[in-house]
Amino acid sequence: MTVTIIGAGLAGLAAACTLAAAGEHIILHEAAKAAGGRCRSYFDAALNCRIDNGNHLLLSGNNAAMAFLHRIGAGDSLAGPATPIFPFIDVATRASWTLRLNSGRLPWWIFAPSMRVPGTRVMDYLPLLKLRRAKPDDLVAPLIGHGALARNLLEPLAISALNTMPAIAAAAPLRAVIAETIERGGAFSMPRFPKTGLSESFVDPALEYLAARGANIHFSSRVTALDPHQKTIIAVPPWVATELLPGLAAPDEFEAIVNLHFKYRVNPGAAGFVGLIGGIAEWVFCKGDILSVTISAANRFAEMGSDEIAGRVWADLQAAFKTTAKIPPFRVLREKRATFAATPAQLAKRPGAATANPNWKLAGDWTDTGLPATIEGAIRSGNTAALAILRQN
Ligand SMILES: Cc1cc2nc3c(=O)[nH]c(=O)nc-3n(C[C@H](O)[C@H](O)[C@H](O)COP(=O)(O)OP(=O)(O)OC[C@H]3O[C@@H](n4cnc5c(N)ncnc54)[C@H](O)[C@@H]3O)c2cc1C
Repeated sequence: MTVTIIGAGLAGLAAACTLAAAGEHIILHEAAKAAGGRCRSYFDAALNCRIDNGNHLLLSGNNAAMAFLHRIGAGDSLAGPATPIFPFIDVATRASWTLRLNSGRLPWWIFAPSMRVPGTRVMDYLPLLKLRRAKPDDLVAPLIGHGALARNLLEPLAISALNTMPAIAAAAPLRAVIAETIERGGAFSMPRFPKTGLSESFVDPALEYLAARGANIHFSSRVTALDPHQKTIIAVPPWVATELLPGLAAPDEFEAIVNLHFKYRVNPGAAGFVGLIGGIAEWVFCKGDILSVTISAANRFAEMGSDEIAGRVWADLQAAFKTTAKIPPFRVLREKRATFAATPAQLAKRPGAATANPNWKLAGDWTDTGLPATIEGAIRSGNTAALAILRQN
């Protein structure tokens, strides 16, 4: 059987690899010149080096992502600390600490002051129980409260996992992330990120895997109409899917992510990244001579110019890394529609894989995976769509 896949982001690549592994013939169309979609690396002339479009953090409990990497032979392409540690620096107070989860399922790190979030007591962790009971309309902010646990862990976790501010973000997808990682224990919460780059881990090995199985891959190939008789997986962003499938309900509000890459080297520390509290950025990755900073839920900074945002983030980094160095060369990358806004109203618009035509399946991080818009969700959606096609055989 031949299956056409539209979109070579991670959802499309995962669908293609699952079908190719089952012996199906793949025709893959990608509108851009390269694959990877929102998760890709490229050569940046200003910085004179290869960078990722944005920092992507995974956790070892991201089962579908890990299985995908193993399938395409890139299982050892991720880096990360040997234990589940999350270093933080508060740029307002200059305090620093490391959250250390224990590897087993029982969260005894909560009971050890040296491992848990500083300034918190055991009782402060009750919001984790409240999150477990989150209903579809529950928002994150009322469940996590305003104490030290919220400020120093749950808010930054929610903002980066949901790419939406806690005041308007739905709690259910955050609850799903926690259930698949932290609740399963530290062994499933190990931070992971590409050793070299996103494309080297997720994209290039997948294209090689497909090419070795006879797939026809077409770049700069924008699909504008669907063939009703052709088995097809539509793995494009929601605003393209609704053009290809008029009448499809899909998320239509989005949140930006801003990534700033500074040409500057610091000691990467034990984890290779640091969470920033009290500034405007959330995570800093120390990659050789590039310091790479992520600001999620960044619609709130839409009006701020690149020089201003870089200046403010650099001030955070000066505080975090105790340097008075002047701002180095930098690149500001804004993904305006990085993910859909994870509000209850938007979540209600997520469709499943099925469409009115049984030959056509949907995939993408915005489909109804139960997870926020993440690598794990995108890959899972691609697998779901592929299995739905295979089951029809
Ligand atoms: C800056 C940034 C940081 C992120 N950080 C993280 C993180 O830390 N952890 C995490 O898990 N996730 C993170 N994400 C989310 C993650 O990148 C996405 O969830 C995932 O890449 C989405 O994959 P996708 O295949 O669903 O969609 P896309 O990557 O959008 O793929 C869709 C593809 O379809 C193509 N296409 C569109 N129209 C057509 C057409 N008509 N014909 C053919 N092709 C078409 C597009 O060019 C694109 O390649 C981040 C995203 C961004 C932008």
